[in-house]
Amino acid sequence: MAKIQIFLCVVCLLCSLILNLLLVSNHMHVGGKWELSWSRKAAEEGEAAAAVACSGHGRAYLDGLVVDGSPVCECNSCFEGPDCSQFSPDCIADVDGGDPLFLEPFWMQNAASSAMLVAGWHRMSYAFNNQSLISQVLENQIRKLHTAVGNAVTQGRFIVFGAGSTQLLNAAVYALSPDNSSAPAKVVAAFPFYPVYQLQTDFFRSKDFQFEGDAYLWENNSDSTSNLIEFVTAPNNPDGQLNKAVLQGPYVKAIHDHAYYWPHFTGIPAPADEDVMVFTLSKLTGHAGTRFGWALTKDEAVYQRMSTYVKLNCLGISRDAQLRAYKLLKVVMEGSGREIFEFGHATMKNRWEKLSSALSVSKRFSIQDIAPQYCTFFQTVRAASPAYAWLRCEREEDKDCYRALKKAGIIGREGTLFGTASSYVRLSLLKTQDDFDMLLHQIKKLVAEKDDTHARSTM
Ligand code: PMP
Repeated sequence: MAKIQIFLCVVCLLCSLILNLLLVSNHMHVGGKWELSWSRKAAEEGEAAAAVACSGHGRAYLDGLVVDGSPVCECNSCFEGPDCSQFSPDCIADVDGGDPLFLEPFWMQNAASSAMLVAGWHRMSYAFNNQSLISQVLENQIRKLHTAVGNAVTQGRFIVFGAGSTQLLNAAVYALSPDNSSAPAKVVAAFPFYPVYQLQTDFFRSKDFQFEGDAYLWENNSDSTSNLIEFVTAPNNPDGQLNKAVLQGPYVKAIHDHAYYWPHFTGIPAPADEDVMVFTLSKLTGHAGTRFGWALTKDEAVYQRMSTYVKLNCLGISRDAQLRAYKLLKVVMEGSGREIFEFGHATMKNRWEKLSSALSVSKRFSIQDIAPQYCTFFQTVRAASPAYAWLRCEREEDKDCYRALKKAGIIGREGTLFGTASSYVRLSLLKTQDDFDMLLHQIKKLVAEKDDTHARSTM
C-alpha cells in the first residue's frame, strides 16, 4: 500500500512539473513570439500616457500630474485647457530658450523603434562590469554615427561622456589649463559667443583659469607666453557661422564646440578633426532632458584629466541616460541614417525661409546672412537652416531691440548676453511648431504695423 502511495506521489509530482513547464513556455512563446509577462503593465502605462489626446498642442507624460488615474496634458505655450485645445490670443511668442523640440514629431513618428522599457534591476551598480563608467556599445555607436555622418574624425580619439556638453565644456577648460602656473589660463571666445562659456568659467573661480572676453582682442598677443584657451563654436550660437579658431601659437589651445555640427543646421563640408571636440545629444536628437554629451580628444593626458573631472563631479553619467542615448542613436542610424537629418533640415530650412520672407518686407530688421553650402552627407548643396535667427533692429529708436520686440509680444534673448550690442536679439527657431508659428505671427504683425505707420507718415 505504501509503495502504491509513493508511486502515485511521484507520478503526481512529475505531472505537475510537466504542466508547469508547459505553462511557462506557453506564457513566453505564443506562435514563436515572446509573450509579455512582467513588462506588460509598464508597456500599457506607457501607451496610455501616449494616447492622452492633447489636440496636437501638448503631451501627457508618465511622470506628469495624474488626475482621475490618467496623466494630464502639459500644453505648449499659447494653448490651454484640459486637452490644450484653447488658444490664448494675447499670448506672447517665447523664443528665448534653445529647447530643441522641433524634433518631437520625428520621435512621435518613430515611437515604436525608440520606445524603451527598463527592468527594476537594470544597471544598479556604480560601474559597468569592467569597472568602466562608460557603456562600450554606446561608445561604438557614437563612433559609427560620426563616420556615417562624416562630421568628425573618431579614429585615434578618446571619448569622454558628460552630463550634457555643459559639463564637458568646463571639464575641457580644466583639462587644458596648466597645473601650478603662476598665472591662470585666459579663456576667450570670439564675440558673439555662447554665454555659458563665461558663466561657467566665472562660476568656478579657479586659480587655474579665468574668462578674458573676446578672442579677437588677443589676436595680436597670441605669440606671448600667456596660456590661452579659445572656445571655437561651429556652427556658432547665436549667429550660425562656421567659426574657425581666431588664435594660433604655442600657448594657445582650443575647445571646439560642435553642438550644432549636424546636417539639421548646416552643410557638413568636412569631418571635424580638431584636438578637443565637444558634441551633445541635445541638438542631435532633441533630447536635451537626457543630459548626455561627449568629447573626442586626441591627447591621452587631456582625456585622463577630463575623465577625472567627470568622475569627481558625478561619478560618471547616469547608466539610464547612457541606455537612452544608445537606443536613440540606434534609431538615428536606422536605414541609411538619413531620415532624421532629412526631417531636421527640412523643418529648420522651412522656418528660416518663412522668417526671412516675413522680415524681407521691412527695413526695420535684418538677420544674418548664411550662404547655401555643399554638404558631404547629403552630397548636394543645402539651403541655410540655422538654429537661431540673429536679428538686428536697424532703427535708432529700437536700439534696445529686446525691449522693442517684447513690446510687440516677442521674447528673444538680449544681444548683450552674447557680448554684442543691444541692437541684437537671438530668436530661437528650435522650439515647437506652435512656438514658431506664434513668432511668425507676431513678426508679420510687427512688420505690417511699421509699414502702416510709414504709409500714414508719407501720405
Ligand atoms: N554648446 C552650445 C553652443 C549650445 O548652444 C548648448 C546648448 N544651448 C550647449 C553647448 C550645451 O548643451 P547641452 O548641455 O544640452 O549638451
